[in-house]
Amino acid sequence: MTDSRRGLELFRDLGVTDVFLDRTASAATATAAPPSPGSTPDLESLRQFLAGCPRCKLSKSRTNIVFGQGNPKAKLMFVGEAPGRDEDEQGLAFVGRAGQLLTKIIEAMGFQRDDVFIANVLKCRPPNNRNPEPDEVASCMPFLEEQIRLLGPRVIVTLGTFAAQAVLGTDEPIGRLRGRWQTAKGTRVMPTFHPAFLLRSPERKKDVWEDMKLVRDHLAGH
Ligand code: URA
Repeated sequence: MTDSRRGLELFRDLGVTDVFLDRTASAATATAAPPSPGSTPDLESLRQFLAGCPRCKLSKSRTNIVFGQGNPKAKLMFVGEAPGRDEDEQGLAFVGRAGQLLTKIIEAMGFQRDDVFIANVLKCRPPNNRNPEPDEVASCMPFLEEQIRLLGPRVIVTLGTFAAQAVLGTDEPIGRLRGRWQTAKGTRVMPTFHPAFLLRSPERKKDVWEDMKLVRDHLAGH
């Protein structure tokens, strides 16, 4: 028996016939529920649904929720791990140094940032950029899944280990996943290295370029 049912039965046993609900409490409970799959009409509604999100502990330390941004009709979606310091301050995905490198990658593919959609698995910054924790991923994944459903991209490029594993539901290492087409819920996924990793290991940029050429050619219909 649930706590709320037990509480109501106690009231009944005490002879209470009317129960008045506290609107604030019920609104807070409602916003703590994740979006049910397929329930949101468009990305803007989803963004509003996420506003003020209290669903995990990162809500206590974040400055801004980073929903992600770009073309709502994008054929190409990039998914990173989580906002860093710059993203947390500005409320925008991939605007720091890794983001500048991502812009170069997108432009080298023949696109502009406005042509694509960029989001993260987590919408709030983990303190000191630590790795996302399982409860945070569990709270946030329904939002990414709903973003993917609403966008309906032809290709998702996952950036780094964490995004690849979360989107594909696997624990295979990125070294084995990258450069090989995968599928998530019917959408083609190309895992590649994270731009932050490329800043530390520039010799791996050529691998990412090989991966992005596959994506570019697929989108061009070759
Ligand atoms: N790294 C990410 O994974 N996402 C961002 O938005 C910025 C850096």
